[in-house]
Amino acid sequence: MKITDLKPIIASHCSHTFASLNFGCRANASETNQLSQILVNLGLSPDTDKPDVYLVNTCAITKKGEYESIYQIKKIIKDDPEAIVLATGCAHLEKVDHIPRVYTFDNTQKEAILKENFGKYSSDVLDKFSHTKRYVFRVQSGCSVNCTFCIVPSRRPYLNAIPLDEAVNTVNEAVKNGYSEVIITGVNLGQYFPGLSNLVEALLTRTKIELISFGSIPLITIDEKFINLLSEYPTRVSRFLHIPLQSCSDKILRLMNRQYDKKRIIGTFEKLKQNKSLTFGSDIIVGFPTETDLEFQETFELCQSIGFSKLHVFRYSPRPDTVAREIFLKSEKISKDELTRRSRLIRSISGE
Ligand code: SF4
Repeated sequence: MKITDLKPIIASHCSHTFASLNFGCRANASETNQLSQILVNLGLSPDTDKPDVYLVNTCAITKKGEYESIYQIKKIIKDDPEAIVLATGCAHLEKVDHIPRVYTFDNTQKEAILKENFGKYSSDVLDKFSHTKRYVFRVQSGCSVNCTFCIVPSRRPYLNAIPLDEAVNTVNEAVKNGYSEVIITGVNLGQYFPGLSNLVEALLTRTKIELISFGSIPLITIDEKFINLLSEYPTRVSRFLHIPLQSCSDKILRLMNRQYDKKRIIGTFEKLKQNKSLTFGSDIIVGFPTETDLEFQETFELCQSIGFSKLHVFRYSPRPDTVAREIFLKSEKISKDELTRRSRLIRSISGE
């Protein structure tokens, strides 16, 4: 059943305990913590053993991610005849909203529920980061960039950003609650319109947070100010930056509708690497439709010259309602062996 508010469901089932399951990205993780805080505020307590309520925040970035999210919801209902499931997130929830005891609210509804929360939660939610004093702070949600391989814009068709002052308040509250590190995350921080470097500067100058780190940092957000802050605050801004590139071939970047080209990648990393204390990670898609061996070689060689210490390698996965899927259906398929070869080569870089 589709819902718009958690309160009446919790009240009607006289629920006392809950467990939360998060799939996918750090933005999802922060949302799961915030929704868990709402359940705590409604009088429920975390119980991973036999809870009355399961909160499931699903993912759909890959076919596998969506399959696992939906499978887990069905398994809970099958294994626990009394529990109820509150399901949200990027998966196609119409696959489960007909199941008795499953209550779904999509991302737009989730945003409405979280709107006035400004990313707040406490360690009462018993998430996996709080015991390390790390606060996962989603400052932005939604994306309208429409990279051609990505399902996210169709699953999060809105743009929200926490105003700078509210972000400073949330982090000051987190510091009061004993957190020492804040992990800045979003669906696309490139659309955090107050500006990522302005946010980092505000948190450095208006809070006592000891360390600021990041989920993924879009290449286009790395401006002069950001690079200067990295130098000015060597102990308070993380030395590791995860910058998803996906490819380094201009033809493939154009087909992906990414917001930068090879020249911009080279220029940005030349500036970043002047700071010897920094290390880098990235996400690379191998086997994007029509990617030739030469174009793959471009990506391999540039990733090697940048010297990434951590590389997440994804084989292209055709997602519904994406432009790239149409290219994929019309183009010659890259063999499994070739995809394996390309994946191994990229992974070998971070091994080096
Ligand atoms: S920036 Fe591109 S990859 Fe990232 S969420 Fe938006 S569409 Fe997806």
